Amino acid sequence: MSQVLVVDHPMVQDRLTELRRVSTDSGAFRQHMAAVASMLFYEAARVLPVSKETIETPLQPMQAPVLKTGIVLVSVLRAGLGFLDGILPNMPMARVGYLGLARNPKTLEAESYYTNLPQILPEDQVFVLDPMLATGHTVIHALKQIEAAGAKNIQLVTLLASPEGVANVEKAFPHVRIVTASIDTKLNNKGYILPGLGDAGDRLYGTLGH
Ligand code: URA
Repeated sequence: MSQVLVVDHPMVQDRLTELRRVSTDSGAFRQHMAAVASMLFYEAARVLPVSKETIETPLQPMQAPVLKTGIVLVSVLRAGLGFLDGILPNMPMARVGYLGLARNPKTLEAESYYTNLPQILPEDQVFVLDPMLATGHTVIHALKQIEAAGAKNIQLVTLLASPEGVANVEKAFPHVRIVTASIDTKLNNKGYILPGLGDAGDRLYGTLGH
């Protein structure tokens, strides 16, 4: 069963177009990234379990839905920070983890340089935030760390995916749902997604890719 959701909502796709444009500067890029992240998260969160709680409205008691489980957001540095900015205001109760993973430019393999995960309970719903699913090596590394920390229910929220990245993650983690705005055409020989949007971290923070 396919666990991939491509969010084709016009508002998501319009933001994605602005992010792809080479003329979009860092300030606008950050704003579009945060906005599209909140929309993608909204779609991913549609499957969150709820339970009923008795509350009092000003007029009468009622059984009202509340989120049933803890929420954990794991931001894959750096570009995941751009997603976190858009999601955290809607999820102030979430626990937040950070994974510093860099791609070795020669091997394209992921190398870990920072790990800081909160407590993760088996019933928690964990959302891995990484805007770019390219080869999948980084995300697979992150998913291994997150499962080793106790996560059982994981979704990957990503902006752009490559067909290769989706296939690699699906193979290694068939139970992890992938929510994305687009599956683009392919990877180039440096592991960049085509047509893509370039280096998401560099575009978010105005760095030059050193
Ligand atoms: N990471 C990025 O930021 N962009 C790509 O195209 C691939 C990986």
